[in-house]
Amino acid sequence: MNENTINTTKPLTIAIISIFPEIFHAITNYGITKKAIQKEIIKINIVNPRNYTNNKYRNIDDRPYGGGSGMLMAAQPLKLAIEYAKSILGYNTKTFYLSPKGTKLNQKKILILSKMKCFILLCGRYKGIDERLIRNKIIDEEISIGDYILSGGELPAMVLIDALCRFIPGSLGKEQSRKDDSFYNGLLECPYYTRPKVFDNVKVPNILLSGNHKKIKIWRLKQSLGQTWMKRPDLLNKIILTKEENDLLEQFKKETVKLKDNKTT
Ligand code: SAM
Repeated sequence: MNENTINTTKPLTIAIISIFPEIFHAITNYGITKKAIQKEIIKINIVNPRNYTNNKYRNIDDRPYGGGSGMLMAAQPLKLAIEYAKSILGYNTKTFYLSPKGTKLNQKKILILSKMKCFILLCGRYKGIDERLIRNKIIDEEISIGDYILSGGELPAMVLIDALCRFIPGSLGKEQSRKDDSFYNGLLECPYYTRPKVFDNVKVPNILLSGNHKKIKIWRLKQSLGQTWMKRPDLLNKIILTKEENDLLEQFKKETVKLKDNKTT
């Protein structure tokens, strides 16, 4: 990924449509996301669609036509909540609906979102939302965080925002740590160790104690290639390795086979 393509316009404003605004304390009150908000790198506005209902109980859900189990989020209050968010952020602001039917979120999509000026995240609940919000293009895109069903879109929205924060300069203590992360260059991260030198009879690899930074860098690259080959070989099909990287991976493979042979004999 190219650092030059990262958004430097501050802050990135995200409007979240949710019937449970308090859930977002998890990102507004803790960790890197809290710091990003304090530094005004990102701004979060939460809009509760219950404020746009026209019944005295502020019910947002209704039974699905045709019957069946569960309730559905009605179209009208969600549309009004989105319109309100757009009146603040601009009428061209994109609306993303967190949905298991959406395109699966990945690092590439996170990078694209981190370069935007603002966007709206719609969090579903119950059985989901009235289909007409999708058919009428009130929602621009559906985004999924994986092939499993959660009870609401709030956790997926927080996953997206947390991942996105890491891409915005100034949000991490050390900018380099983003570049070392898994997926940044298409590979998994190398293994790391901290004190003590020996834990449960396993010693930290000697090279990491050598102080030879050039050799440590090469070792880390080799381990990163090796971890990817062992745990996520599919990732290696998506990138082109340099000759040095190919040689390091071959070395890693040979060493792994040797290690296995030694264990079995
Ligand atoms: N009945 C829906 C279906 O089978 O596709 C699932 C509804 S789910 C119980 C309620 C809400 O959680 C959804 O509207 C969506 O906002 C959110 N959600 C659930 N799983 C999700 C996922 N994997 N990715 C993103 N959002 C998800």
